[in-house]
Amino acid sequence: MAKPRPTDPIARRGLMLVLSSPSGAGKSTISRDLLNDDNLFELSVSVTTRPRRASEIEGVHYHFVSKREFEIRRDSDALIEWAEVHGNLYGTPREPAEAALGEGRDMLFDIDWQGADQLKERMRGDVVSIFILPPSMAELKSRLKRRAEDSDAIIATRLGNARLEIEQWRKYDYVIVNDDLDRAFSEVKAIVLAERLRRDRRHGLFGFVEGLLAEKIG
Ligand code: ADP
Ligand code: 5GP
Repeated sequence: MAKPRPTDPIARRGLMLVLSSPSGAGKSTISRDLLNDDNLFELSVSVTTRPRRASEIEGVHYHFVSKREFEIRRDSDALIEWAEVHGNLYGTPREPAEAALGEGRDMLFDIDWQGADQLKERMRGDVVSIFILPPSMAELKSRLKRRAEDSDAIIATRLGNARLEIEQWRKYDYVIVNDDLDRAFSEVKAIVLAERLRRDRRHGLFGFVEGLLAEKIG
């Protein structure tokens, strides 16, 4: 269902919302809820060399490619950022992200801290970053097991990398502890609303205020 557009008559630049977390903390769940709830967001579909999980659809969750194909895209500058994560290569296609931003549409990026660093360096004023923390390491482990999409060896690699990823938390604009999913999701929505209302993102305010001041008061 169409939702009200909070900043509507005032034109603004799109925002690049980056969600990162250690694997299993809940960023895919929160991303999916946000995409369902807010029709202004579009997901940036990454390219990866990771094998497809049973629940994933080519072109919806990722573009699954060979290592050679990934390297061709990376070396022809078709990716805005890329990184090796848990032994696989992941990257963000440049063209859809740049087009969305130019047209004032918002884009959601489910990428790791290395990708977030690169995006911030290249598009600083447009990036809003949120880091999702699990309530405990024990809960992180049990979420990875409950998700039941990865083998025990892959879960062990991801848990082993979790501490290093969590150590990146200070680089993010916002940090959310995903204990209760409804609360975490409301917090993400509050951040999005506030960021959309930022003065420096809303170039339409110039014309709007000009019109306001030119209005004759009867
Ligand atoms: P990530 O994308 O960060 O790897 P997922 O979104 O796939 O993590 O979540 C991992 C698992 O934890 C999924 O099975 C998901 O349904 C579950 N989950 C996510 N958030 C919560 C929460 N707040 N409480 C309990 N389970 C959760
Ligand atoms: P998963 O294999 O669980 O889908 O993702 C593993 C990790 O790779 C997650 O931290 C996810 O955010 C990250 N990731 C997914 N796509 C990209 C991307 O395009 N660039 C970067 N840097 N990380 C990505």
